[in-house]
Amino acid sequence: MNTSQLEAVVTPHVRVCSCLEPKFDGDLESPAARTYFGGQPYAESGDAWPSCPTCQKELSFICQVRFSETKFVPPDGVGLFTFFYCWDCSPWGLDDEPSGQWVVRFYSAPSDERAIRIQRKARDDYETTPCSVEVESAKSLPDWEGIDVYCREASTLSAELNDDEPWEPYTELVQQITGRDDYATMIGGYPRWVQSESTPKCSQCHHLMEQFAQIDSEDEAGLMWGDVGCVYLFCCRRHPSEIRFELQCH
Ligand SMILES: [Zn+2]
Ligand SMILES: [Zn+2]
Repeated sequence: MNTSQLEAVVTPHVRVCSCLEPKFDGDLESPAARTYFGGQPYAESGDAWPSCPTCQKELSFICQVRFSETKFVPPDGVGLFTFFYCWDCSPWGLDDEPSGQWVVRFYSAPSDERAIRIQRKARDDYETTPCSVEVESAKSLPDWEGIDVYCREASTLSAELNDDEPWEPYTELVQQITGRDDYATMIGGYPRWVQSESTPKCSQCHHLMEQFAQIDSEDEAGLMWGDVGCVYLFCCRRHPSEIRFELQCH
């Protein structure tokens, strides 16, 4: 038993994804069909600014991503998503929360020409700081929390390599392959859990859902999820109307 066996098992699971780095941008004034945090959300004719069903306040616009700027291949017919959140109700993504406290909107054919401005009535007390993003390609592998869900064999092999600290050979290898060992805002890839693994299953087909975005706490954008937490957004390729949200923090 050696690490090359472990590597052979792990390598096919590598997902190419994109890491987003927000950078303050005071010029974000018009809605556009590209990736950014804060500012004016992309919207199309017929859209209105979403409000929270519980507190009635307008949601905060967090960010939007145009998938063609990233390595993530979205479900068919999805080109861009916008993400809104209610900081007053602070949903965690639990099953018993009323829907509408967070909102993800998918757009199939986003373009600057189709973009319209939607208006808030009230000022946003939690306004996201407008940021453009730097996009960098990255590789992702399941974290140790998620290994039994995505690659059980690797967990067994890693434990054979190091009985006392079974996670060590695996996490070392992941760091070698991906070149990273920290939380980040990622489009695609595997969730890096702050707490425990909780990849949801699609309520229609019961397959594991796929992470399309992990949104980290981002100083530059003024985003803090609880105590330096992370938001995870999942979709189902067979059922694009199924979207799940999960927030975890320390
Ligand atoms: Zn609310
Ligand atoms: Zn499904």
